[in-house]
Amino acid sequence: MDNIRFRALEISIQRKRKPVEFPQGKASDYFGEMTFNSSAMKEYLPAEGYRQLRNVIDKGGKIDRKTADLVAAGMKAWALAKGATNYTHWFFPLTGLTAEKHDSFLDPIEGGKAIENFSGSNLSQHEPDASSFPSGGMRSTFEARGYTAWDPTSPAFIIDKTLCIPTLFVSYTGEPLDYKTPLLKSLAAIDKAAVDVCRYFDKNVSKVHATLGWEQEYFLVDSALYAARPDLVLTGRTLFGNASAKDQQLEDHYFGAIPQRVIAFMQELEIEAHRLGIPVKTRHNEVAPNQYECAPVFEEANLSVDHNQLIMHLMENIAKKHDFTVLFHEKPYAGVNGSGKHNNWSLATDTKENLLSPGKTPLENQRFLVFLVNIMKAVYDNADLLRAIIATPGNDHRLGANEAPPAIISVFLGAHLSSMISLIEKSDKKISLTARKGNSALFKNLPRIPEILVDETDRNRTSPFAFTGNKFEFRAVGSSQTCAPAMIVLNLILADQLKKFKSDTDKLIKGKMSKDDAIFTVLKKYIHESKNILFEGNSYSQDWVEEAARRKLSNHRTTPSALKAFTSRKTVRLFEDNKVLSGRELHARHEIHLEDYTKKLQIESRVLGDLTTNHIIPGAIKYLNTLCECVQRMEDVLDRHTFSMVSGSQVETITEISEHIAKVKTFVHEMLEARKAANRITDAEEKAFAYCDKVFPYFDKIRYHTNKLELLIDDEIWSLPKYRELLFVR
Ligand code: ADP
Ligand code: MG
Repeated sequence: MDNIRFRALEISIQRKRKPVEFPQGKASDYFGEMTFNSSAMKEYLPAEGYRQLRNVIDKGGKIDRKTADLVAAGMKAWALAKGATNYTHWFFPLTGLTAEKHDSFLDPIEGGKAIENFSGSNLSQHEPDASSFPSGGMRSTFEARGYTAWDPTSPAFIIDKTLCIPTLFVSYTGEPLDYKTPLLKSLAAIDKAAVDVCRYFDKNVSKVHATLGWEQEYFLVDSALYAARPDLVLTGRTLFGNASAKDQQLEDHYFGAIPQRVIAFMQELEIEAHRLGIPVKTRHNEVAPNQYECAPVFEEANLSVDHNQLIMHLMENIAKKHDFTVLFHEKPYAGVNGSGKHNNWSLATDTKENLLSPGKTPLENQRFLVFLVNIMKAVYDNADLLRAIIATPGNDHRLGANEAPPAIISVFLGAHLSSMISLIEKSDKKISLTARKGNSALFKNLPRIPEILVDETDRNRTSPFAFTGNKFEFRAVGSSQTCAPAMIVLNLILADQLKKFKSDTDKLIKGKMSKDDAIFTVLKKYIHESKNILFEGNSYSQDWVEEAARRKLSNHRTTPSALKAFTSRKTVRLFEDNKVLSGRELHARHEIHLEDYTKKLQIESRVLGDLTTNHIIPGAIKYLNTLCECVQRMEDVLDRHTFSMVSGSQVETITEISEHIAKVKTFVHEMLEARKAANRITDAEEKAFAYCDKVFPYFDKIRYHTNKLELLIDDEIWSLPKYRELLFVR
């Protein structure tokens, strides 16, 4: 019988680099050519239509019917000129993936003919059947309709001859069933709150937008090897596999030369991304073998979130052309690094300033410190919520493991800023943050911020939330997640915090305190209240786990426990006060995440059971037979004395293998019973906890013994590609 592993290996070894077709001209010539961007709009829209649309994009508001018709006509003409045949509303249901329903432009007319048709109402609203998307029980089946509504702030684009229109997705009764709707609301909230605070320093600021630059980590694996690992195919990660003798211990992969086949994939990815207006800029090897990263230049957060979803889609498709499969799972391989998606986040004003950039003047520094301290306070107050939105079964394996931030949320500022923060906390409250006389200790320190920050802020790579010179980097986000929840929550908690700051400061000003003193007094109080969130040391260490416990910072190690924060009184108040989501919607989202967790563990547990029973144990028994036959023959051939002298090691192996098989069988059976019991539970949270506490612990127990079997059994018989092959062969 053929061993599928050897066939897969043979195919993977024979692969050659696929040639890349480079488009004519420079990247800047074709950048954005497949998007309905400003220049396409200018070309295809009448002046009035363009002006109206620009106004909505820049200032917000709704598009009227007439403008929608004008835009639709222009968009259709543009799309047809680019060869598009279909259109789709591209949206972000709560599965965390993207969804689309394609319609043709074609409409039959009299005389057996047809025309291409696309109206303002086709553009603005569309009605997919929402019943198969998760709603957390918010929608009863008779109200199965959902609406998608165009988001004009994210340009339409063409992929595979299909015009894709980024949209919001809401239920018939108006509840958001997606990530985009609350994201746009959170962006509006931070805009308003940040502008109000900026006006203390600069009256010209009238708009603030959040910026996001993501870093997408991923693994590539040869598709033939991938296909021979049902666990990778069905769960995205390896449920078995003994560590490769060599993996990342020599640290020779990080920033190393990129293999030729991988380079070809990256080049094609970059070309397609650039044609779609995604400003990807950086590519490099990551720490683990076959692990890579791709990062763009940052953009306005809503657009950047869309671009990240789009690039994940592109990566999957383009990888296939190069006979690779992309693994976005947070921990596809045990024992080597997992993949994250760092979210670099900042705020920019319409006066072209970065609010997290320490300025050159004392006034700019004062503003910088206001935003910095408010972020620190917002993260401290909402650490549980930040932990909740990165809670997924995949990330449970990554957080706190090799080279990944722990499940404890803390803030890293760098030594200089930290000491400045503690200086403010301890100093006399009369000391002003602005330069007046220039005689306070504080004043002497402030103007030096920029110089010192540059080289010191990026040192600590172990923090889940680190200040890196002119932005914060949220590193705990998982590689398979959308950036939307991180952006929603960061914008929202800061917006809420800035509102409090404004009201606290205004109260003091009304009580006749000077503006500078009022700001200083409030910051000092916030620092005092939230300084426990600051941590400069090694977040990967056990010492920090203990220290964090002393500081009473939470450390939720598993998803069901972390998810609780979704429905806490604090979270509900936060979302409701800022009109981003209602309590009912938060409960629904909580339920969706719990169900997702349970289902994923259920699938993993089934695959684990199937593969041990159908692949691993049969292979082990086959080898056992060979060994037994061998021993029997030895007994036939050898004299009694010699036989008892030399057969010992074979018999030992037979015993060892038999014991491991017995253990695996027992644990698989017990796991099945635990699963059955968990499946009988109806409450979503209780069920998720049952999977977490009762079913999941068997995964490692089973794996321990199957890994031992992998080491003992004849390589010729073992049918699942091994770690050394998945991680190295190309
Ligand atoms: P590193 O790996 O050292 O963290 P990278 O260069 O890979 O650095 O990634 C830095 C990311 O931060 C890029 O995506 C970049 O666009 C983004 N970035 C830089 N400035 C800002 C900003 N003001 N707002 C948001 N993101 C930013
Ligand atoms: Mg980074």
